Amino acid sequence: MSGFKSFVDPTTIRVNGKLVGVVGPNGCGKSNIIDAVRWVLGESRASELRGESMHDVIFNGTTQRKPAGRASVELIFDNTDGRIAGQWGQYGELAVKRVLTREGGSTYFINNVAVRRRDIQDIFLGTGLGPRAYAIIGQGMIARIIEARPEELRTFLEEAAGVSKYRERRRETENR
Ligand code: ATP
Ligand code: MG
Repeated sequence: MSGFKSFVDPTTIRVNGKLVGVVGPNGCGKSNIIDAVRWVLGESRASELRGESMHDVIFNGTTQRKPAGRASVELIFDNTDGRIAGQWGQYGELAVKRVLTREGGSTYFINNVAVRRRDIQDIFLGTGLGPRAYAIIGQGMIARIIEARPEELRTFLEEAAGVSKYRERRRETENR
């Protein structure tokens, strides 16, 4: 992460193991880490990242420091087991990156090759690790699932069952 919310200086976090806890005092940036993961995976709604505009994710300065001109987050996956198949399956490591400048929009990269947002979505659709999928359970999300309307609940179930990928493909085909 760099220039992303409170993480103004380049910060690397290793997520080793199956269960990782992030602990720290209030306001230290725990939720910002979760926001960074959602953001790089393509979250397009600022309110889902606790902001009003998407540009709110860019470090906005303190009394000691100037605001940053851009935010970037890169998520690196070990793919030596080949779990990410298809077009990107040949790579032992996959780096998914999103950059946002103050003046411009978001740009996405996979292994430093510019891609579309939907190329990133394609990789993770059906794995549970989308920006709004269930692999990331944020603050308040348990309540949201409990109170969800049946149609919303169905989206979670379809993601778990691996159906969402095909539903998305069908929608695209029908729109052509
Ligand atoms: P809690 O335990 O209360 O849930 P937390 O560790 O989850 O706290 P976060 O919500 O991740 O804390 O971080 C909040 C901090 O991030 C605040 O101090 C806020 O000012 C800072 N912050 C958020 N957006 C930006 C931004 N664009 N630029 C600079 N700082 C930011
Ligand atoms: Mg928090």
